[in-house]
Amino acid sequence: MKIHEYQAKAVLKRHGVPVPQGDVAATAQEAAGIARKLGGRVVVKAQIHAGGRGKGTFRDAATGKPVMRPDGSKPLGGVVVVDGPEAVEEIASRMLGNVLVTKQSGPEGRRVGRVLVEEGMEISKEFYLAVLLDRAIRSLTFIASAEGGTEIEEVAATRPEAILKAAVDPRAGYSPWIGRSLAFGLGFEAKLVNPASKLVASLHEAFVRTDASLAEINPLIVTTDGRVIALDAKMNFDDNALYRHHDIAELRDLGEEDPLEIEASKHGLNYIKLDGSVGCMVNGAGLAMGTMDIIKHHGGSPANFLDVGGGATVEAVTAAFEILMKDANVRAVLVNIFGGIMRCDVVAEGVVTAARKVGVKVPMVVRLEGTNVERGREILRESGLTFLVADGMKDAAEKVVAAAGGR
Ligand code: GDP
Ligand code: MN
Repeated sequence: MKIHEYQAKAVLKRHGVPVPQGDVAATAQEAAGIARKLGGRVVVKAQIHAGGRGKGTFRDAATGKPVMRPDGSKPLGGVVVVDGPEAVEEIASRMLGNVLVTKQSGPEGRRVGRVLVEEGMEISKEFYLAVLLDRAIRSLTFIASAEGGTEIEEVAATRPEAILKAAVDPRAGYSPWIGRSLAFGLGFEAKLVNPASKLVASLHEAFVRTDASLAEINPLIVTTDGRVIALDAKMNFDDNALYRHHDIAELRDLGEEDPLEIEASKHGLNYIKLDGSVGCMVNGAGLAMGTMDIIKHHGGSPANFLDVGGGATVEAVTAAFEILMKDANVRAVLVNIFGGIMRCDVVAEGVVTAARKVGVKVPMVVRLEGTNVERGREILRESGLTFLVADGMKDAAEKVVAAAGGR
């Protein structure tokens, strides 16, 4: 699960990471009020679940035309430094309700519902600092660079030697030398090594305590008056651990998520939307992955990953089927079920019920195998609906790719 910058900063602050003072606003008047309290120069930051806001541009939600800065000089970006509450109100009113397009948002952009208003910082230097799970070495790993502010992917591609890494051995846990070695490695001046390494320790603490999967600070800054501060923050969390973090789970912003994925999660379905044209309904994550692979292998491309689970009910299968039909890109559906715990007759019933309910608009290929397979096939046959029955995985993939329009 992803959260907004203002939420990530609150989480980090709670664990001791220094962040700028500020607050979040849903209206331009609220934004002005926060600026008045802070006084002086402030920064208005659009809150969306995508990075690259500083270099992004706003579009009018209704007309699609660029939203300009108040002086008309150029399109408005997602991070704007301004003086005074009136200017903040003006900027916030241009951001709120409009669409911010960034490198990470996709061309359609994201609608902005909230802005973060923070005290303006005088930056002397920008760094990059993140912690994530490195599966290859089975350890949490810090990634840091003295070339902050820019995208880390670009630094990694052009100057890999400018990236520092430090792993946290899970048997030993965090130890203060990790923070110190990063602080020295990044070239912090002597009197800043302590605050910088403390920040690294706090970041680790925040990550572990919340079962995060990513915590990224870009940029981490040194201010002109010598403070080390997280100027931007991004945190992702392990969905499987959310049950024990109600405070984190509450931070979920459904407005930022795919509507079909939200619908799927309500029914306990494991669904991830993709860009292809073959809708997949499969039981078991392994078989779902295998199904996607074999569709690709035969020149097609999957419209989704969908695992209906081991013990899905007729209702769940119906819901799954409805979700597939709602995706406008789907031109054919492959139902690939191995009946182990899941019985083929239950799947067949679900498919027939859903097909009747939503109406089959696209060809459907069904491959059933395992428990109650005969009964399952019977149900499909007797339904009076047209299914292409496949004999094995290869045949199923060939049939569904052809049905979706070929390679
Ligand atoms: P992102 O573009 O979505 O990653 O948003 P950031 O929060 O990282 O902001 C982008 C850039 O805006 C930063 O790298 C800074 O250079 C600049 N910026 C953000 N806040 C301030 C601030 O308080 N003062 C100054 N001078 N620059 C800021
Ligand atoms: Mn950033």
